[in-house]
This record gives sequence, C-alpha cells and structure tokens, in this order.
Amino acid sequence: MNPIFADLPTTVFEVMSRLAREHDAVNLGQGFPDDPGPADVRAKAAASVVEGWNQYPPMMGIPELRLAVAAHHRRFYGLDIDAEHEVMVTSGATEALAGAIFSLITPGDEVVLFEPLYDAYLPLVRRAGGVPRLVTLKPPHWRFSESDLSAAFSAKTKVVLINDPLNPAASIWPIEDLDMLARFVEKSGAVVIQDAVWEHVIFDGRAFTPLITRPGMRERVVHIGSAGKIFSLTGWKVGLVTAAPALMRVLAKAHQFLTFTTPPNLQAAVAYGLAKEDRYFTTMRSDFAKARDYFANGLRQMGFDPLPCHATYFVNVDLAAIGINETDRAFAERLVSVGGVATIPVSAFYDTQAVTTVVRFCFAKKQSTLDAALERLDAFLKHHRR
Ligand code: PMP
Ligand code: GLN
Repeated sequence: MNPIFADLPTTVFEVMSRLAREHDAVNLGQGFPDDPGPADVRAKAAASVVEGWNQYPPMMGIPELRLAVAAHHRRFYGLDIDAEHEVMVTSGATEALAGAIFSLITPGDEVVLFEPLYDAYLPLVRRAGGVPRLVTLKPPHWRFSESDLSAAFSAKTKVVLINDPLNPAASIWPIEDLDMLARFVEKSGAVVIQDAVWEHVIFDGRAFTPLITRPGMRERVVHIGSAGKIFSLTGWKVGLVTAAPALMRVLAKAHQFLTFTTPPNLQAAVAYGLAKEDRYFTTMRSDFAKARDYFANGLRQMGFDPLPCHATYFVNVDLAAIGINETDRAFAERLVSVGGVATIPVSAFYDTQAVTTVVRFCFAKKQSTLDAALERLDAFLKHHRR
C-alpha cells in the first residue's frame, strides 16, 4: 500500500460530521448550507435527468456549460476565454485539483503552498512526488510578506498552489499581494493552480480578483471553480477549470483517466445557473452576510471576538484570545461530545503547529440552527469552560 494514503487519518470534515451524528450535535463543522439551494437550478437538473441526455457527455464538458463558463468569466472578470480550448468540466474542484497536481508536477519539483491549506492538497502533492515549500499565514490578516515568498521560492519551484478566497481564513488577498506573488511566479517560471471555489461567496461589496487576470498570469494560471459553492449545492461536484491551451492540453490528459466525464444533467443545470442575473449572486451574498452577522453577534455576546470574515461561509474564533486554555482540537472534541455543537479545529489546516487555538464555525444555516448552536455553546462555556 502506498504509505502516503495508508498513513493518512480520515479527513477532519468526515470525522466531525460523523461525531455530530453520533452525539446528535448541531453541525457547524463541515461546510454546507442547510438550505436546499436554488429551486430553478435543481428543477433544471431534474428535467435534464428525465428528458435529457444520460449517456457519456463530451470529455471536456457539454458545450453549453463550457460556453457558460467563458461568458461567466467575461461578465465577472472581463476575461476573454475560448470555450473550446480553455475550459474543462470536472467532477468537483477536487478532481480538478488532483488532475492539475498530477499532470503539472514531476517528482522532485518544488511546490509552494500556503497554510492554512485545504486538507486534500498536501497528500496529493506528495503522491505526485512534489516537494512542498510552505508559507505560513496567521490570523488576523492571513497575509504573506516578500521575505516569506523569497524563503519559499527557489530555482526548483514548478508549481504554486493557492486558495483565494481562503478557506478557513475567510479572507481575500489584496491585489498588491497578488501582484507581489505574480512577480515571484513570473521570475520562477512556475505554474499556479488557483483553487477559487469561494469566488462568489464574498461579502460587504468586496471584489474578488482572480490571479489569472493579473499582468503576466493569463498563460500561467489554472483557475478552478466549483458549482457546489456557486449554487450552494455542495453535493453536486461539478468543477469548472479554465487555463490557457498549452496547460489545458495536459490537464485534459489527467482528467481523461481520473473520471473522464461528469453527469451531463448537472452540467446542463450549472450552465443554466451561471447565466442567472446578477441579482442571484448579490442576494446569495447578502443572505450569507446576514447569517454571518447574526452568528458573529451571538458569539460576541458570549465573550468571543470573531475574526474578520470577508468571504466563505466560515467564521473563526481564537480561543486563546479570550483565555480559554485548551487546543482547538481538544475544545472541538469536547464541544461536539459534551456541548452538542460540531466545529472544525483550524489546526487541521496546518502542517506545522503555527496555529492551534482557532476554531471554525459554518454559519450557512437557518436562523433556528444558528440559535440552537449559540444556545448550546453558551451553556457549554458556562459549565465546561477550561
Ligand atoms: N477547495 C476548497 C478550498 C474547498 O473549500 C472545497 C470544498 N469545500 C473544495 C476545494 C472542494 O470542492 P468540490 O466539492 O467542488 O470538489
Ligand atoms: N470544503 C468543505 C469545508 O471546508 C468541506 C469539504 C469536505 O467535506 N471535504 O468544510
């Protein structure tokens, strides 16, 4: 057995959701909304199952969806994308990430990554033979400096893997940071894989700028989106990959032997959804922002000082900042089993021990769910605080 996978623990999201079920806890751990998602997009998928094509779709994705992705990038980012040669549909962003990592890394290549990192990244990079070079980001700003990049980049840097907006930090990198990163990327000749699954879940009128739109980056960035996040349908697993033709040719070779295709009915529904009017996107954002404010306010009332949340549906608290003398992991384990609320310890996103006292809550829930969680958390703090 391959030791990289044989020795891996089960992903924290699955572990916490299982514990939540076992303890009948309110699950604010794994990130998924408890809303059924846009009815018209689901109706389109249902109609496509009943009346549409249910055999293999084209390997690169159905033409309507590839055209819709190109139109989406023009509308939101001002990018001119050739749907035929620069767009590919995968089975979730996860497949796109795996395919990009396997097809772009040759054993011995150095890969620059930023922690906190989504837990799939390091095992996939290591399985591809990549040598991780980590930049450590910390709350409250989660930003990197020029000297961080100088220390991480080398003559062997071949791939840079970024996640912006950043899960679990709930942050968006400022453009000046992106441009600093772009200078290092250009100098090293590396390719960037941008996990942009949270590109639409952004708040307070903030803009999100994909790295592929910055000077010199058009030919160097693989941009990965996820319909699961854009439409709050996390089980759908429809990934949307955009990259220049020279990169796309090799990405397609990995895709053809990972999954080859993605259910055509879901693709048709995502094509329909991407063309929705701006109001869908702005309403989705403001609804999540309301839930964020409601939940963060509840946290404040019990003495927490929630970290800023500019994107994603997560809000973080630093336990140490309010004198809780326990690691995030220990706190999360006690909270789910004794207090009946599931969360995610942010240390699960670190390879180092740089951050060990921050806990992540998913606020993409109905108000009654958030109320139940706040009530239980309050009771837990009153009776079981360490
Ligand atoms: N990357 C990040 C940063 C994520 O948060 C997630 C899912 N929550 C994914 C990738 C996976 O996306 P998908 O479900 O489309 O595979
Ligand atoms: N990305 C989701 C989160 O951060 C979970 C995805 C998963 O369960 N693998 O909560």
